[in-house]
Amino acid sequence: MNPAVKPGRDRDRVSRYYTPMTWSFRLARILGTDVKVHFTFVLLLGFLFLSWQQAGGVDAALQLTGLFLALFFCIVLHEFGHILMARHFGIRTPDVVILPIGGVARLERVPEVPRQELLIALAGPLVTAAIAAGLAAWLAGRGELITLTNADELQGSLALDLLQANVVLLFFNLIPAFPLDGGRVFRALLAMRMPHLKATRLAAKTGQALAIGGGLYGLATGQTWLMVVALFVFLAAGQELASTTTRVAGAGILVDQMMITRFRTLPVYATLREAVDLLLEGEQGEFPVVDNLGSVEGLLTRDHLIRGLTARGPDSPVAEAMARPVARLPLGLPFEAALTQLRESGLPALPVVDAAGQLTGLLTMNNITDLILVRQAVAPR
Ligand SMILES: [Zn+2]
Repeated sequence: MNPAVKPGRDRDRVSRYYTPMTWSFRLARILGTDVKVHFTFVLLLGFLFLSWQQAGGVDAALQLTGLFLALFFCIVLHEFGHILMARHFGIRTPDVVILPIGGVARLERVPEVPRQELLIALAGPLVTAAIAAGLAAWLAGRGELITLTNADELQGSLALDLLQANVVLLFFNLIPAFPLDGGRVFRALLAMRMPHLKATRLAAKTGQALAIGGGLYGLATGQTWLMVVALFVFLAAGQELASTTTRVAGAGILVDQMMITRFRTLPVYATLREAVDLLLEGEQGEFPVVDNLGSVEGLLTRDHLIRGLTARGPDSPVAEAMARPVARLPLGLPFEAALTQLRESGLPALPVVDAAGQLTGLLTMNNITDLILVRQAVAPR
């Protein structure tokens, strides 16, 4: 038994891994990757526009918005540096989310080979450095490169502002804290000398220490944005540690070992009243709904049941209230793939079927969490 495992806190840690990135919308799909913009990024732009307008009028606000959008484009290019390098190693990137503190390319899996993670993490800053160098060369060609004497005259040049912003972005990204690239570079360098989980723990703790320092500095100097960034970095470091812990704990497990095999099902013609009886009878909260031949038609969760009762009453059929269609996980599916599908379904459980399509198990979030906690508790540190 490992005394370091605190069920309450660790359960929270494990469950955080399943949270999908909500509050974002898709802007475009490029090379198989969804480019998404987080709601807070739009909010930030709106807020900045209003404050720029108040400070310098509409023209100034429009110009600064232009700069902001140009920088947004540079950030997307930066992210595609990561994405293309990951692709080179055979790792797809389903989506990239643009947040107020920058972009986060979410790879379908984390490269286990430290050298690959190092190169993927460095590819983004390399793109940013190339953009900055390109802008500097272009400005130099026009004789506009900043010197100590002409700094004031050139204020307001879009290219120069963009150059400065990219330089700031480059150095910010190289701070060794998750989810910044520097954090991944740091982890990869550590992982060349120690196990992946230990390297992640060390890198995450370092990032959190830096975030606390940055947050306190922001507090002392009254820089709100620094405090916000520090808080975000602090949380992201914890999330990175949680997801790595979960992945390591689940390595080698198949869906067969994670699913529950003793559970109740509901026939499609059952009423919500019968479903309520079943719900109150035991601890099961999600019920596969099956047809006469035993094949899965949908899933009735607690939420669907309550909503169905409110909208249609207890005598309506479960078929009208259940979630459908639901993904069916095949037996033999590895841990990570099963977890990803469950997470993406947005449901608390998914049915597991055998090769003939017959229902054989139920994969629930609760069961996975328990399994991971048990494995962490018995695993040697
Ligand atoms: Zn990056």
